[in-house]
Amino acid sequence: MKEVNVDVAVMGAGTAGMAAYRAACETGVRTVLIESGEFGTTCARVGCIPSKLLLAAANGLHDARASRRAASKARMRKARMRLRLISAACLSTCDANATTSSTAS
Ligand SMILES: Cc1cc2nc3c(=O)[nH]c(=O)nc-3n(C[C@H](O)[C@H](O)[C@H](O)COP(=O)(O)OP(=O)(O)OC[C@H]3O[C@@H](n4cnc5c(N)ncnc54)[C@H](O)[C@@H]3O)c2cc1C
Repeated sequence: MKEVNVDVAVMGAGTAGMAAYRAACETGVRTVLIESGEFGTTCARVGCIPSKLLLAAANGLHDARASRRAASKARMRKARMRLRLISAACLSTCDANATTSSTAS
């Protein structure tokens, strides 16, 4: 095993460990950073950042569904309005026809 002489040994290269390592290095002392697990902080690998991406994706999906529902409601309103106009036009044509035929007879 290799022996290393240092002034400061920081355990864990997480958010806190990296900040501690940087701070110790800035003072000019011999410093070592020891990491036993995966590279990258918990925040960057599995914590804050990926969870916010997941939340952003879920929010995007939620918004897309909501706007599709709103668009579909607007389409239904338009179709109902068109139907009402067509019915009104039919009724007035029927009335006119009835008046004409009753006058004619
Ligand atoms: C899902 C999730 C979402 C989160 N969201 C947020 C958020 O939105 N906002 C927020 O502020 N915080 C959030 N956090 C918390 C944030 O990730 C942690 O508070 C932060 O990462 C802690 O930093 P740390 O330096 O203490 O530990 P870590 O970043 O976990 O680093 C510790 C490091 O030490 C190493 N280690 C442990 N034991 C040893 C050992 N004996 N020898 C050598 N190395 C060792 C580990 O392998 C690890 O790399 C979230 C956490 C999770 C899990």
